[in-house]
Amino acid sequence: MDWHQIFATRNDRMKASEIRELLKLLDQPDIISFAGGIPDPNLFPAEAFKEAFSDALGPETQATALQYSVSEGYAPLRDWIVGEMARLGIPCSRDNILITSGSQQALDYLGKLLLSPGDTALVGWPTYLGALGAFNAYEPRYDRLDPETNRSAEDYAEAAGEGRVKFAYMSVDFANPTGRTLDAAMRERVIDLADALDIAVIEDAAYQSLRYEGEALSPVLAREIERKGDINACRTLYCGSFSKTLAPGLRVGWVCGAQDVINQMVLLKQAADLHSSTINQMAIATVATAQFDSHVSKIKAAYLERRDWMLQALETHMPAGVTWTRPEGGMFVWLELPKGIDCAALLAQSLKTERVAFVPGHAFFADGSGTNTMRLSFSNANEDGIEEGIKRLGRLISAAF
Ligand code: PMP
Repeated sequence: MDWHQIFATRNDRMKASEIRELLKLLDQPDIISFAGGIPDPNLFPAEAFKEAFSDALGPETQATALQYSVSEGYAPLRDWIVGEMARLGIPCSRDNILITSGSQQALDYLGKLLLSPGDTALVGWPTYLGALGAFNAYEPRYDRLDPETNRSAEDYAEAAGEGRVKFAYMSVDFANPTGRTLDAAMRERVIDLADALDIAVIEDAAYQSLRYEGEALSPVLAREIERKGDINACRTLYCGSFSKTLAPGLRVGWVCGAQDVINQMVLLKQAADLHSSTINQMAIATVATAQFDSHVSKIKAAYLERRDWMLQALETHMPAGVTWTRPEGGMFVWLELPKGIDCAALLAQSLKTERVAFVPGHAFFADGSGTNTMRLSFSNANEDGIEEGIKRLGRLISAAF
């Protein structure tokens, strides 16, 4: 049977990326990989989780832990998140929080909630690849969100053609893939633009807790609440995650926003998967309550060291003409090579001759541009691997000039 004959049109844009296919080959032990943007498994609070799961399965809670539960999420976890949001300058109640299976699911639901085919999503150029993947199923057009230019709301609206601009999506702190952070003035400008266009703002805060230096910037949602007085009057939807702080395999994230939106998303969740894993939410609640801050301090110290090793190695080994970001947190450094150098071709060559992996940047651009860019992750590498890998990469890039 030719299945493609009966696949719905929304599948047309859901293609396996050739990069992901290539990166699947990376298990070989002699490859130094800066490709995967994943946490270091040696830093997982495994002992604490062992105890938390064991407690959840104890006589008093096992019925809850293993039973169906409400779509909104496990109440004690939502309450813990309310406290965390308050610390970030986002006063809200439990009814403003929906637990999702990772923030990836929140992105999918927000696409489903907001995008009709042909509507426009404003995204960064580049932006998080997984956000494009989630939104693609809803057949949007993409336009470049660039708050640094003074592009008018009318101009954005006009470019949307027959559809309508529905939201601006941003990874605000130590973005994936660039490592850049949106400064205060730009955050304010995005709210102005969203107000003028009457659209939602999706604030992807996946890396928010991983700041290694510099002053924390208050979230877009906190700024909007300052202006409007009440979260229920706000258009920003904050997507949080425990993946980078505690453990991605448990798939627990959340959306925080106006109750009207949360209520509708609860219906989407009911229809899609009923609820996120009850026992995983219980374990996350237990571990977060006991040691979120101390655990996050520990992983930040480890990642800071790795970031510094990478920045130092880039300084030493990259030829003139290559520039890179200096992230204040997160997991990524973004390299720009001279125009004309194709980083996808460079990766193919690197895997053959230098045995170093990275992600070619064009995958993060909605229009496939940015062929002279690449993303390097430092979260899973050690000092020797970083020094040797960047040395090899510098040699490869120098030869490509
Ligand atoms: N947003 C960004 C910017 C990410 O980098 C990731 C994970 N790579 C996610 C969202 C999704 O993370 P999760 O679903 O594990 O919360």
